[in-house]
Amino acid sequence: MSPVWRRELRRLVLLFAAAGLAGHYSGHLGWALFATSAVYIGWQWLQLARLHRWLVASQVGDLPITVGIWGEVFRHTQRLQRRSRKHHQRLQAVINRIQDSTAALQDAVLMADSHGNLEWWNAAASRYLGLRSPTDIGQPLTNLIRNPDFKQYFDSTDYREPLTMTSPVNPRQQLQFNITLFGRKDRLILVHDVTRLVQLEQMRKDFVANVSHELRTPLTVIRGYVETLQGNADMLPPRWQRMLSQMSQQSQRMEALITDLLTLSHLETDRPHEAAPVALAPLLQQICADARALSGERAHQIECQVASGCALAGYDNELRSAFSNLVFNAVKYTPAGGRIEVGWRVDGNEGILSVSDSGEGIAEHHWPRLTERFYRADPSRNPETGGTGLGLAIVKHVLLRHDGRLSIDSTLGQGSTFCCHFPLARVISPEQ
Ligand code: ADP
Repeated sequence: MSPVWRRELRRLVLLFAAAGLAGHYSGHLGWALFATSAVYIGWQWLQLARLHRWLVASQVGDLPITVGIWGEVFRHTQRLQRRSRKHHQRLQAVINRIQDSTAALQDAVLMADSHGNLEWWNAAASRYLGLRSPTDIGQPLTNLIRNPDFKQYFDSTDYREPLTMTSPVNPRQQLQFNITLFGRKDRLILVHDVTRLVQLEQMRKDFVANVSHELRTPLTVIRGYVETLQGNADMLPPRWQRMLSQMSQQSQRMEALITDLLTLSHLETDRPHEAAPVALAPLLQQICADARALSGERAHQIECQVASGCALAGYDNELRSAFSNLVFNAVKYTPAGGRIEVGWRVDGNEGILSVSDSGEGIAEHHWPRLTERFYRADPSRNPETGGTGLGLAIVKHVLLRHDGRLSIDSTLGQGSTFCCHFPLARVISPEQ
């Protein structure tokens, strides 16, 4: 037992012993004990009432003065209260600092609870999104930012990719939203002004589209003259004939490059129109027939395994361009007599178009970069194949416009398999 409790017990025993003696000598033992008990209980009540009053008033300085166990209780309570106040002040200082620093941020920061109601935001959020304090506190964020893209993004809870959209208060400002889930599905929303970036990106796209377009006319004229000269080749010395043949080859390459650049530029800038069912069997059989023509004397064995009736909801021209790039690449990078298989299957929750070849294969460290523009796994091989370096970039963009993705698997010396994965929502089976 602690000393303070021992003292309290001694005091109690002495009190009742004195009351017992006084009662014994006065002949009223019962009354004496009763009166002492009543005084003791009254005193306890009084201390309890003081403690309660002191806690309610919560004035740290005015500690009630008392003795015994109650004095100890008062002192401990006061110590706890002081400690909790210090802790609270420290936390408040941290919160104030965080709020001050986020208020000074150029980027907007918002917090929404698990129901999507707005809890807090900084000054930049008011500027970018037109939020007003205190009326907007507790309002659903999708009611305050009225944009269908934002609503879909906010409700999706898949925040791996950011959302870029026009500011609701300034049509010339482009904002990028990044959402992070924390706690019990609360949301931290960061909004960054990307107007300049979007403008630069647009300038780049316009520049590539304009340059490609402008180069086309002079190139057509040059090719026309070269072809005319080649038509009268027998009148020219043999040295000139070789030069003309090279000019013709190079101008064909340039034309292919311009065509691919324009295709990419359309894929990047044109808004997708209404998707329509694209029958896969005739499309792929046609591509395989073209591939056999491209193979010519190299006589690749090209097989097309696509059940009739399968279709994809998409854009015919774009799918044709993507699949042709994959099949023609297989022809270009597979030695003569090699095997090429084109197949379609529905596997789990996706439809997969695969193009496999028994060619030279690609080392694994190249795979992540193959869809970059002008990236080549083996640049020395390129002059022979006449590739533009844009084929797989086109495939990637076409698949993005069809909610799909490209996967690559390859073994050096054995061959490669390129797969286009499409979500089931786009797959139309023969029964349908
Ligand atoms: P390119 O016009 O050079 O073929 P692509 O973008 O179509 O450009 O392909 C990029 C690179 O990927 C090619 O240069 C080649 O190195 C490699 N590649 C593509 N398909 C195959 C394949 N089936 N087998 C081996 N390498 C391939």
